[in-house]
Amino acid sequence: MSVATGPDGATQAGLNDRLAEWDRQNFFHPSTHARTHAHGESPARIITSAEGVFITDRDGKRSLDGFAGLYCVNAGYGRTEVTDAIAEQARKLSYYHSYAGHGNEPAITLSHMILERAPDHMSRVYFGLSGSDANETNIKLVWYLNNVLGRPEKKKIISRWRGYHGSGLMTGSLTGLELFHKAFDLPLYPILHTEAPYYFRRPNLDQTEEEFSTWCAEKLEEMILEEGPETVAAFIGEPALGTGGLVPPPAGYWEKIQAVLKKYDVLLIADEVITGFGRLGSMFGSLHYDIKPDIITIAKGLTSAYAPLSGSIVSKDLWKVLEQGADELGVFGHGWTYSAHPLCAAAGVANLEAVDKLDLVTNARETGAYMKKALQDALGDNPIVGDIRGEGLLIALEFVADRNDRTFFDPELKVGPRIAAAALQRGLIGRAMPQGDIFGLAPPLCITPSEVDELVTAATAAVEAVASELA
Ligand code: PLP
Repeated sequence: MSVATGPDGATQAGLNDRLAEWDRQNFFHPSTHARTHAHGESPARIITSAEGVFITDRDGKRSLDGFAGLYCVNAGYGRTEVTDAIAEQARKLSYYHSYAGHGNEPAITLSHMILERAPDHMSRVYFGLSGSDANETNIKLVWYLNNVLGRPEKKKIISRWRGYHGSGLMTGSLTGLELFHKAFDLPLYPILHTEAPYYFRRPNLDQTEEEFSTWCAEKLEEMILEEGPETVAAFIGEPALGTGGLVPPPAGYWEKIQAVLKKYDVLLIADEVITGFGRLGSMFGSLHYDIKPDIITIAKGLTSAYAPLSGSIVSKDLWKVLEQGADELGVFGHGWTYSAHPLCAAAGVANLEAVDKLDLVTNARETGAYMKKALQDALGDNPIVGDIRGEGLLIALEFVADRNDRTFFDPELKVGPRIAAAALQRGLIGRAMPQGDIFGLAPPLCITPSEVDELVTAATAAVEAVASELA
C-alpha cells in the first residue's frame, strides 16, 4: 500500500495511517472537493462519538455541533430512548415491505403521530428515506393528480432561486443553487425558478419588507401568466429558506404568494425537511407562517437522523383524487423497497416522543431567541456583519465588505469558509452556506443557554479574527 503524502509531497504525520488512507483512496464523499480530499490537502475528519450537542473525532477533539449534523439531529446525540427503540425493533422485526397494504406497527403509529402534529387539513403520509426522494414523490404525485383530473398539460413546477429541495435529477432541478446545477445539465424541464424571498439581497434597497413581498408575488404571477396557468401545476418552497442562506420570509410573503397560487389553481408543496418538527419554534413552518399546503415534505427532524426516513404528507383534497385515480388506474405504481422501514419508523416514534417529553419546540423558540439576541449584542456593530437573522434555532450571519451600501465581498476571498474554519479552530461547527458569505447556525433543539453562550463566544472570536485579517 502506498504511503500518503501531503500537499508538499512529504509524508505528513497524522495522514499516513490506514483509516485515513482508506478514506482518501476508497470513499467518494458527497459535497466534497474530490482532488484536495483525495490528496490530503483538505482536512478529513473522522467522527467517532457524540453526546448532546457535542461531537468527538478520533483524535479526541470535541466540537460543539452548531449545525446539528446537517440540521437534522434535532433531539441531540446519544439519546438512548431512540437507540434502544431501534435495537428492540431490530430484534422483533427488522424488515418487511409495505407494498400491497402490508404494514408494521411503528410505521402505522408514526403516521398517526405525524398527522396529529400536522395542520388539520392533511390526511396521509407516504414514507421514503430522504428529503430528495420525498420531493421526487411529490413531483410524481402532482403529475399523477393532474392526469387523473384530466388536465395532462398542467405539469410545470415553479421553485425559487436559492431553494434547496434535494440532489436527485428532478429535485436537483428544483434546487435553485448554482453548485447543484453546474456540469450536471440541470435544471431539467419542466422546472422553473422564480425570485428568492431574500430581503437582505433585494435588488431595490428602498423597498420595505411588505413591498418586497408584493414584488415577489408579482414576479410569480408574471411567470404563471407567461407560461400559461393551464400548464403550471405546483409551486414548491421552504417556509424559511434553508441551504440558500437561512432566510426567514419577509413580512406578508406567504399570504401574497398563496393568493396568487389560489387564483391560478396551482398546488403548493411546503418543503419542511428542515422546518418540520420544531426548528422554527413551531411544530411546522406551515403553522408558524400560516401556510396551507397541499403537500408537506418531511425528513431530518422526523427521526433526528437516528435512521433515514422521510415523508410526503398529502392533504384531504389530494387524497380524494388519489382514491379516484385508484378506481380508474388501479394500484398506485410508485414505491421504494425501504418505504416505511420498521427500524426507521421505530426511531421516528421514539424521537417524536422525546421531542414532546423534552419540550424541544418551546426550547427552539426560547433558546433560539436568546441566541439571536446574544449574537446581535456581540456582533451587531462588527463592520463585516451585514445581517443577523433567523427564527427559532435557524440563524445566520451574513458578511459584507461595506455595511452602508451592502457591498458583498469578492467570492475569491472566501470569507464564509474562513469564518467557518476559524470557528472550528475554536471548537464550534457552523456551516459556510454554499452561495454567499453566510455562516449558518442550526444546533440541536436541546441546546441550553449556557451552551449557546459557548457557541456565541466562539462565533464572535472567529468573526473578529477574520475581520481583522481582512482589515
Ligand atoms: N429539502 C430541504 C429543504 C433540505 O434542506 C434538504 C436537505 O438538506 C432536502 C430537501 C434533501 O434532503 P436529503 O438530503 O435527505 O435528500
